[in-house]
Amino acid sequence: MDKTEIILNKYFGFGSFRGLQETIIKRTTEERKHSLVLMPTGSGKSLCYQIPALYFENKTIVISPLIALMQDQVDALRKKNVPAAFINSTLSKQEREKRLEDFLNGNIKILYVTPERFRKKDFIEKIKTVKIDLLAVDEAHCISEWGHDFRPDYSRIGEFREILGNPLTIALTATATKDVQEDILVKLNLNKDEVKIFHQGIDRPNLRLEAADVFDDNEKLKEILAALKKYNGSGIIYFSLIKTLEKFSEMIGDKGFEHGIYHGKLEDKQRKQMQRDFLGGKQKLILATNAFGMGIDKADIRLVIHAEVPSSIESYYQEIGRAGRDGKDSLCLLLYNQEDLYTQMEFIKWSNPDADFYFALYNLLQRDTGLINSSGIDLIREQMNFKSKNDFRIETALGMLDRYGVTEGEIEKKNLKVIDELPGILQDEEFLKKKLLNDNKKLLSVVNYFRNENCRRVFISDYFGFPGEKPCGNCDNCV
Ligand SMILES: [Zn+2]
Repeated sequence: MDKTEIILNKYFGFGSFRGLQETIIKRTTEERKHSLVLMPTGSGKSLCYQIPALYFENKTIVISPLIALMQDQVDALRKKNVPAAFINSTLSKQEREKRLEDFLNGNIKILYVTPERFRKKDFIEKIKTVKIDLLAVDEAHCISEWGHDFRPDYSRIGEFREILGNPLTIALTATATKDVQEDILVKLNLNKDEVKIFHQGIDRPNLRLEAADVFDDNEKLKEILAALKKYNGSGIIYFSLIKTLEKFSEMIGDKGFEHGIYHGKLEDKQRKQMQRDFLGGKQKLILATNAFGMGIDKADIRLVIHAEVPSSIESYYQEIGRAGRDGKDSLCLLLYNQEDLYTQMEFIKWSNPDADFYFALYNLLQRDTGLINSSGIDLIREQMNFKSKNDFRIETALGMLDRYGVTEGEIEKKNLKVIDELPGILQDEEFLKKKLLNDNKKLLSVVNYFRNENCRRVFISDYFGFPGEKPCGNCDNCV
């Protein structure tokens, strides 16, 4: 056994590596060269930086955008006696300082931070003083404006690398199109020839990819019931709209299929309970919006049905990647109703406010912060003259202002504050238009996926910029 295998065995209890893990790890530990890793969630992506982190003598920093995910990962590592910790805004100042101190003096080897941490001067001053062996950038697609989950602080990642002394870097993501891959390298200040891109598709031949044309809800229901009867086991049915989800919940319940529901309007407590019931096997079937999925690592999911058209191949790919991790036959069924496209197009419109909208909202916030905090978001709706309840441009725009560090706090907590100027990018009509167009293009790719008559797996692989995939022999077009 070599050193990496010993670490794998000692901390993680595995006898051998799987898929591309070993190649990626060797490139990092032995060759000390940069990598960009595209691997579906649940295929052991994290080990690709965790093993090197334990292999190296010095320290590793992991940048991760999601506080919940970072906490789960660190908890899991600590149970395995890996000296890891996270620092984020959920901790008290005192606790943050203590953890940073532990990292600086070597008691902690792997430190998880959000990119926002690099806004803090005292963090930067201290982190500069230590030798970093490895920088791991998790959910690297957040770096790109063209990714589906852009985080402005992530786009400064090249600057963070420089602060850390340009250490060896490994960037990881479950999905990234060719454009996004290129953007990741640019933002990391890395040349194409310095980085090797590893791509591990959904290496699960047991996933059966299917798509069906449906004209109305009755046909949709028929398809769902047929699938539920055929694939007995745990399943997720995804919806775009809560309204539709609730309607189907009733119809499916009437047919005798017990199930849980999960969406953003449920209380946090209810959502957590639902997730626990599903993971623990108490609830086999779940009807959910795309809010469901983070941290869903369950081996025996037999079916993932999309009852409404998803917004992009990226999100579709990520959601079906939750099926069949145990290697047994599983179904990934996309139900396509032309009308559902309009829902998505509305979504896209509302997720892309224009420059005037940002300008008006910004001015309103600046003028009436106190009043808005005491009266709530409906006051903004009134002031901005909005009639449609479904129009969530305000929520989108508020989210962006927060991400860009223009505001801090929340209206719900009555502590929203304007702390900076409106950044140029949110006033750049050209850019905002391009982004809108790009989102529409992504939706069009889902239509093309549905209409395409060749192997569905080949289509997905081509979409992510990896031609040459062989027909799978297990999708509706292959069979
Ligand atoms: Zn196929």
